[in-house]
Amino acid sequence: MHSVFGSVVRALPIEAAALSEQCNSDEFPEKVNLTLGVYRNFDGKAVRMPVVKKMELRMANDDSLNKDYLPIIGKEAFCSAGVRLLLGKNHPSCVSRLAGGVQTIGGTGAVFLSARFLHRILGFKIAYIPKPSWPSHRGICDHEGYTVKEYRYWNWNNQCLDINGMLEDLSNAPEWAVVILHACAHNPTGMDLAKTQWLEVARIMKTRRLFPLFDIAYQGFASGDLDEDAWPIRMFIDHGFELFAAQSFSKNFGLYNERVGNLIFVARDAETTACVKSQLLVLARYVWSNPVNHGSYIVSSVLNDPELTEEWKRNLAEMAQRIIKTRELFHKKLEALGTPGNWDNVIIQRGMFSYTGLSREQVKHLREKYHIYLTAEGRMNMCGLNWNNMDYVANAFHETITGG
Ligand code: PLP
Repeated sequence: MHSVFGSVVRALPIEAAALSEQCNSDEFPEKVNLTLGVYRNFDGKAVRMPVVKKMELRMANDDSLNKDYLPIIGKEAFCSAGVRLLLGKNHPSCVSRLAGGVQTIGGTGAVFLSARFLHRILGFKIAYIPKPSWPSHRGICDHEGYTVKEYRYWNWNNQCLDINGMLEDLSNAPEWAVVILHACAHNPTGMDLAKTQWLEVARIMKTRRLFPLFDIAYQGFASGDLDEDAWPIRMFIDHGFELFAAQSFSKNFGLYNERVGNLIFVARDAETTACVKSQLLVLARYVWSNPVNHGSYIVSSVLNDPELTEEWKRNLAEMAQRIIKTRELFHKKLEALGTPGNWDNVIIQRGMFSYTGLSREQVKHLREKYHIYLTAEGRMNMCGLNWNNMDYVANAFHETITGG
């Protein structure tokens, strides 16, 4: 029978999701999922942060809460708390109201909304993303009608940052292009720029009149220090840039399925900031209409209460330390086994992800022989390693690399 949908072809699967599904249905008892983009503790368990649980218990008993729509902008107290967290409460752009925020559907929604605004309202046509990058950067920019170009970021031969390639590509970018920058804990490589390198990037982007769209999905997860992780964005503003920053609370509050994001914008004067905000609200109105309440209520309550904020910082530091410790342990194990290659990247890289340098064949071998799942390009989530599987994974890496 004829179908209206007859011409629709099956879309390619989203790699990380497809691999996780495959892993879930794998019945091998020692299987290991290193493809996930979420935090797990040393026992391999998903975690509800204690401060989040505390807030949820309070909310359950608070009869003043209801399920009315939020305003289009979301919860104002949440947006401004997000801005203060990102920029520091004494930053001049906070004090003089040059910075604002609009609540979004996760960090993804913030990347989307900024891409849409820059293209539809300001007419930007070219977007630069790092090679490699979180796949949704390309997906969103493609869908929004940009010509997507890549700047070099990773040197596959030497397994290190390609800073010269990055600077050269940005120097050759046409003026008025959007450049997506990972503020910290670059996904997928886990490799961040040093401060001196960030300063060079800012200098070139200023000369080329390139517009910075920062993606900050891991504030607090990279160095363990919230201010340190936000440094590149603050530095850009201090150097006179106007910018967008897509802020996510999925990771640093463990609120993945609550979809809590904030699109932060910094403009030259308060009136311009207000105009930008008003246009963003129009765009948001016709996509999600109003954002979600549960997660933003939690984040807002915590960040607007000094005691709860301290508690959250302790919870977050524990998670960041868990990742740093895992990196050290895994590195030690590979060294002890004498696994060929230089494994220092495991401890140099930051955040949840590590680019292992394993080839596609080695990744396939790990999956087929050991039931260990990594993305095809060899990205692993350090949180997929835990007390029970660390030796198993290290031995499997060793045997795979030595031809076992
Ligand atoms: N940006 C980067 C670099 C990410 O890695 C992720 C999530 O994996 C996001 C944005 C999206 O975050 P959210 O889940 O809040 O949409």
